Amino acid sequence: MDITLNPYIMRKFFLGVFVLCTSAGFSQSKKTDPNKEAVIESVSKHQQELVSISDKIWAYAETALKESKSSKELADYAEAQGFVVKRGVSGMPTAFIAEYGSGKPIIGIMGEFDALPGISQKAQPTREALQAGAAGHGCGHNLFGAGSLGAAVAVKELIAKGKLKGTVRFYGTPAEESVGGKIYMARDGLFKDLDVCLDWHPNPEIAASTQSSQAMIDFIVEFKGKSAHAAADPWNGRSAVDGVEAFTHGVNLLREHVLPSVRMHYAIKAGGDVPNVVPEYGKVWMWVRDSKRSVVDQVFARVNDIAKGAALIAGVEVKVTVQTGDYELLVNRTGAAALQKNLEILGPITYTPDEIAFAKKIQEAQGHEQTGLDGAIYPLKETKEHPEGGSTDVGDISWNVPEITLTTTTAPKNTAWHGWAVVACGGMSIGHKGMLFSAKALAMTMVDLFENEQLRKDMRAEFEKRKGNTVYKAYIPDGPPPVPANN
Ligand SMILES: [Zn+2]
Repeated sequence: MDITLNPYIMRKFFLGVFVLCTSAGFSQSKKTDPNKEAVIESVSKHQQELVSISDKIWAYAETALKESKSSKELADYAEAQGFVVKRGVSGMPTAFIAEYGSGKPIIGIMGEFDALPGISQKAQPTREALQAGAAGHGCGHNLFGAGSLGAAVAVKELIAKGKLKGTVRFYGTPAEESVGGKIYMARDGLFKDLDVCLDWHPNPEIAASTQSSQAMIDFIVEFKGKSAHAAADPWNGRSAVDGVEAFTHGVNLLREHVLPSVRMHYAIKAGGDVPNVVPEYGKVWMWVRDSKRSVVDQVFARVNDIAKGAALIAGVEVKVTVQTGDYELLVNRTGAAALQKNLEILGPITYTPDEIAFAKKIQEAQGHEQTGLDGAIYPLKETKEHPEGGSTDVGDISWNVPEITLTTTTAPKNTAWHGWAVVACGGMSIGHKGMLFSAKALAMTMVDLFENEQLRKDMRAEFEKRKGNTVYKAYIPDGPPPVPANN
């Protein structure tokens, strides 16, 4: 495991500092912000602890809303570092808030820690389960939680020394992979008093994110009919599976008449048990997505009509239940530009020959070109009108508070996400390097946010402009989320 600070990165750091100071018109003798140097040192000082926390959460591999040991690992560490910790917020035992300092500004940072079912994997480049059938961190959330907390601790140390004024708040956000814990926390107003919030996500490339995500709604359609003998008296029966078939047929006709950006996908969860009984129950689990929440709302209304029509055709009853939904991410380019400067100061992540060989072996195992790892820093990208596929509950937070999102390399390119290879990299030095890099970059950006009131104002102005008149309303029902059954 090679997690010591690479001398190349340090060299780039000081070079970057020099360039930044010169370009900002400072005298060349002036060093970078000492607070930024201090947070980098803090992450280095705590790196063994952060790696240990990440590795423990990786090994626990607890799925959505069952992350009790993982959540405790992070919350206990925050408490030991002097944070005031509130556990079990928004009706979720594994959701927590850890806060240090007082007064404004209040800068938040989020950490996830839930795993995915069925993808257990050893930290090696060939496929082999750590425990057959168990869960695994196929989205790198073990790194996400530990890295964000590392950044919060670094900032806390500066507040404790009186070098920064205000409050740093870490959000322990469970169940990103299912019901979306952040949405419940947002519904309860837990992000309302923040000035800015930050997050990061494991990825095959480093970027200060300037891209949105897809809005989506997740719902269940249930049909209830009347059972009968399928041969003796089928005329006395009303088939719930007829309802399911008419519904899915209707949805598939609808595909022609929605915007190209719309995605609709479903799974038939119940469709009768045996052929010789008219089935009385049918169930479809469906998602509708688009690059805009407003379009998702329109399509969902039409899908509701199709469900009613299907029930009429089959002579059965229908019930549609919304489980959850995400907003699209509201981009904040002002915040991304501030983060970008810090990525350039830190410079690229470099890898050892062993790490590159590990990555290439993974690419080979998955039938991809063996390009190794990409730890480069690229220029800030243009924002696409329609984001690539995928939704996140960070989207909901971004409609409540200006958000800065970082993605950091923790696995090779073309790696199937939510799969064994991401689990493998997240449990060894490739993942650890990404996690420590993220902690530093986010802590440096938080230093900017604490020190620079104009940056906070500019981020808020962009946020208000992009949000317009939209009033945030979570898709979820009242009360705490149900623990997902298929975890
Ligand atoms: Zn994820």
